[in-house]
Amino acid sequence: MWQGLLTFLNALRTALIGMGITIRNFFSPTVTIEYPEQQLDVPLGFRGLPVLLSDDEGNLKCVSCQLCARACPVDCIEIQDHRDPETRRKVVDVFNLDSTWCMYCGLCVEACPFDALAMSDHFELASYDMPSLVYTKEQLAEIGRRAITPTVNIRETQNFGIKTGGGDPR
Ligand code: SF4
Ligand code: SF4
Repeated sequence: MWQGLLTFLNALRTALIGMGITIRNFFSPTVTIEYPEQQLDVPLGFRGLPVLLSDDEGNLKCVSCQLCARACPVDCIEIQDHRDPETRRKVVDVFNLDSTWCMYCGLCVEACPFDALAMSDHFELASYDMPSLVYTKEQLAEIGRRAITPTVNIRETQNFGIKTGGGDPR
């Protein structure tokens, strides 16, 4: 008899604990985010689309050294350039980044010695149009110029990412 009573009390206790949790959550504020109308603010350091950064005059910082393309494990960066006959500097003609291949690993940003690339907070990349998922130099630069935070260095040569004003140039 005592065993049966103990089992009953134990079950009652467990049920009351469960009901307590249910009631507590019933009166707690909702945490549902109705995406895409509502969006969470992604933290700095979020690894979204890698984008090109510009200097204060709006010129790309990229010097076409190709280190990012070589560091990329999936070869999704294509760079073409020519050398300016006067300055003898390389000028980037093509900088394509295929976001369908990109793993958002950040190795390209890590490899760039010129703080010319950053992982952005840009993540809404879905599209039915495959070619539009290859981001051009102009598109990557436009997102990079929308930076609302400076890059945060976690090492001498590695920036940690930027937040942008959002929106997609496609
Ligand atoms: S984030 Fe990774 S996969 Fe994407 S371009 Fe950079 S190195 Fe390549
Ligand atoms: S590593 Fe930096 S500077 Fe070199 S090509 Fe890539 S983005 Fe440009």
